[in-house]
Amino acid sequence: MDLHEFQGKSILKKYGVSVPEGILAESPEQAVEAAKHLHAITGTKFWVVKAQIHAGGRGKGGGVKLAKNVREVEKFTDKIIGMNLITPQTPPEGKKVSKVLIQQDVFYPGPSDIREFYISVLLNRKTGRNMIMYSPIGGMDIEAVAEKTPDQIFTEEIDPRYGLQGFQARRVAFNLSLEGDAFKNMVKFVQSLYKAYLDSDATLFEINPVLKASDDKIFAVDAKVTIDNNALYRHPDIAQMRDLAEEDPIEVEASRYDLNYVKLNGNVGCMVNGAGLAMATMDMIKMSGGDPANFLDVGGTANAKRVEEGFRIILKDPNVKAILVNIFGGIVRCDRVAQGIIDAYNNIDNINVPIIVRLQGTNAEEAKILLDESGLEVRSAIALEDAARLVNEALSE
Ligand code: GDP
Ligand code: MN
Repeated sequence: MDLHEFQGKSILKKYGVSVPEGILAESPEQAVEAAKHLHAITGTKFWVVKAQIHAGGRGKGGGVKLAKNVREVEKFTDKIIGMNLITPQTPPEGKKVSKVLIQQDVFYPGPSDIREFYISVLLNRKTGRNMIMYSPIGGMDIEAVAEKTPDQIFTEEIDPRYGLQGFQARRVAFNLSLEGDAFKNMVKFVQSLYKAYLDSDATLFEINPVLKASDDKIFAVDAKVTIDNNALYRHPDIAQMRDLAEEDPIEVEASRYDLNYVKLNGNVGCMVNGAGLAMATMDMIKMSGGDPANFLDVGGTANAKRVEEGFRIILKDPNVKAILVNIFGGIVRCDRVAQGIIDAYNNIDNINVPIIVRLQGTNAEEAKILLDESGLEVRSAIALEDAARLVNEALSE
C-alpha cells in the first residue's frame, strides 16, 4: 500500500527523523490558517504548497510551489486543489488533487551551503536483504542518475543477523562528504530512517531530496513510502491511512469480494483460476495479437458465485471487448464451473460482449456440451490454441 507524503512523514517524525513542519489543507482558507500557524511555531517566512497524490515527480508537473507570502499560499492552493496533476509517474490522464501539504520552507539561505541528497531504504530482492541506497545527487530523477553517473550511487546492505551497523550509518555520511554537526545529524537520520522502515514493515522509504540545511540540520523534504500489504494487519494505525480515492475504483470493489484483480489497458477481459494460469493466459492473449484488460484470479473454488462476481468486475471496464474464461478443473469439476457460467450469464443482464470459455480438466467434455447446448452466446473450447483463435475472431467481428 502506498502512502501520501504527509502520512509517510508522520511515521518518520515518530521515529525521530527530522521533517519540515507541515499541515494538511483541503481548501485555500485552511491553507492560509496553516501558513500562519507554521509561521508562529517555526518563524518561517516562506512556505511550500505540495499536492498530495500517490505519485512522484509532482514538482515537474506544477504540483509543488514555493509561496513567498500568505496571499501566494492561498493562490497556489486554489490552483493546485482540483487540478489534474500529470507527472511521469501518474497515469497519462493524470490524478485529481484534493488536498495539499502546507510546509515550512527549509531551503532558507544561511551562512553555509545547502545540499540535496537521495536516500532510500528498500528490499534488495536479489540478496533478500534490506539495503540503503543513497547518492550525493539529490532532488533529481534517480533513474537518470543511475544511468548517467552510476558511480554516484552507493549502497549499504544490511545483514539481518546484526542489523544496521554504526559504521554503515557513518559511511553514508562520509560518502555524502559531510563533516561536523551535519555528519552527526546524518548518522542519526539514517539510523532513525532505517528503524522507521523496519518497524512499519515497509518495502520502500524513498527520501528525495534529503536536505542539509544551512544550519547543518538534515531534513526529509519528501517521502515516498510503500507498506507491505501482508503486514498491514499488525499496523492498524497505518492500515487506516489507506486512501481509496487514490486507487482504481474497480480494484477497490474487487478487493471487497476478495478477488485478485489488477486493471490493465487492453481489451480482453480474463477470468482464470490460479495466478500462474492467469499469467500464462495473459501471455497467450498477447501472443495471439490481443491485449489483456486485466489480471483476475478467481481462486481455487471458481463456484457460481465467484464466477458471477468476476463477470461483474470485468464488465465494469468499458474497454473490454471480449472475455476469456480459462479454468482448470482440478479440485473443481468443469461441468460445475460451466453451470456457474450459465447461471451467472442469466443473472447479469448487461453482458454485451462475446464470452470465450476454455475449460480443461475433470469433466471438460461434459462442460463443453453443457455450454454448447445452453443456447447462450458462449463459445467454448478445450484446447488453449482454439480459445486464442476464438478470442481473435470475436475481436475482429
Ligand atoms: P516530487 O517532485 O514529487 O518529488 O516532490 P518533492 O517533495 O521532492 O518537491 C519537488 C522539489 O520542490 C524539490 O526537489 C525541491 O527542489 C522543491 N522543494 C521542496 N520543498 C521545498 C522547500 O521547503 N523550499 C524550497 N525552496 N523548495 C522546496
Ligand atoms: Mn521528491
